This record gives sequence, structure tokens and C-alpha cells, in this order.
Amino acid sequence: MDLSKFIRNVEDFPKAGVQFKDVTPLLGNSEAMESCIEQLLALIGDQKIDKVAAIESRGFFFGTLLAQRLNAGFVPIRKPGKLPYKTLKEPYQLEYGLNALEIHEDAIKKGERVLLHDDVLATGGTARAACNLIEQLGGEIVQCNFLLEIEFLNGIQKLRKHSVQSLLKY
Ligand code: AMP
Repeated sequence: MDLSKFIRNVEDFPKAGVQFKDVTPLLGNSEAMESCIEQLLALIGDQKIDKVAAIESRGFFFGTLLAQRLNAGFVPIRKPGKLPYKTLKEPYQLEYGLNALEIHEDAIKKGERVLLHDDVLATGGTARAACNLIEQLGGEIVQCNFLLEIEFLNGIQKLRKHSVQSLLKY
């Protein structure tokens, strides 16, 4: 199934100049959701995954589904102040602003094989920060996996030591 028709482009959200890729039409269609999860699993193939780490908040939609299908644990990577236990923190630059991400310090064990998932790869700063957190805990990043990639922003450059896969490219 061609999933691109379920991605809505919203101009100037949340700021002027941003072409926001809205995945809610995809979430609202069960057949598209089913096809999407199958297509994401196909990107991973038969690689063994111990943990799926996903980035707040839109990474959580498919991150938990992927973890369940891969018989892997799920790890939320969240914005500051949201995780209740001891955390590691990593600052990063966003396409539209500055932010930081946190992970629970016991979320990943040394040597665990980790799939990183998020909805959109734009400049790559968010995914890079998430990779840094996973690597600080000793996780081995098997793949960085996205619903879609905004190619002209060249986020793949920031992730070049990893395998990067996305279902759709814009
Ligand atoms: P970046 O760090 O620039 O790669 O931005 C990626 C993060 O910001 C992801 O968590 C996305 O959900 C969000 N994001 C950035 N740009 C967009 C966009 N144009 N449309 C939808 N989400 C975006």
C-alpha cells in the first residue's frame, strides 16, 4: 500500500516555513496502520532486536507496536522532566528550536541490540541525540528507522555511522 496518501502536509506549522508532515490520517486508518507496521518490519528483516527505543511523542505510535511484533522491550526517550526515575540527558538542536532528550539510566543494558524509531527524520538532531543516549548506556544501534525522511535537510549525515531506513522520502 502506498502510505504517502495518508501523510498530510501542513504548511507553516508549528512555525512559518515548516512543512509539517502530519501522520494522523495514517493513524486514523486501520488498513494503513497494518500496512505501515508490516512495511516497517520489512525494513528490519530478520535482525535480532532486544529493545525498541522511540522518541516522544510521535515515535511512540509505532515504536510500541514494533517492539511487540519484534518480541523486544520498549524504551521511551522523552523530553526533559517527564521520566520519573534517574535519567541521562542530551541537548540537541531541532529544525524549529532547541531541546533536550532523556532516557532512564537502566533502560538499556550494555550490549543490547537497539532499534531506534521515530516518525520523521528532518535535520537529524533529535535522532542523533537519541543515539547518543543509547550509546552512553552501552546499547548497539542496529538501525535508525523512520516513517519518513525529509531528504533536503540531510539528517542522514548526522547518523552516517548507522544504518538508516525510512518508508517514505520527501
Ligand atoms: P530533526 O531533529 O530536525 O530531525 O527533527 C525530527 C523530530 O522533529 C521528530 O521527532 C519529528 O517528529 C519532528 N519533526 C521535525 N520536522 C518535522 C516535520 N517537518 N514534520 C513533522 N515532524 C517533524
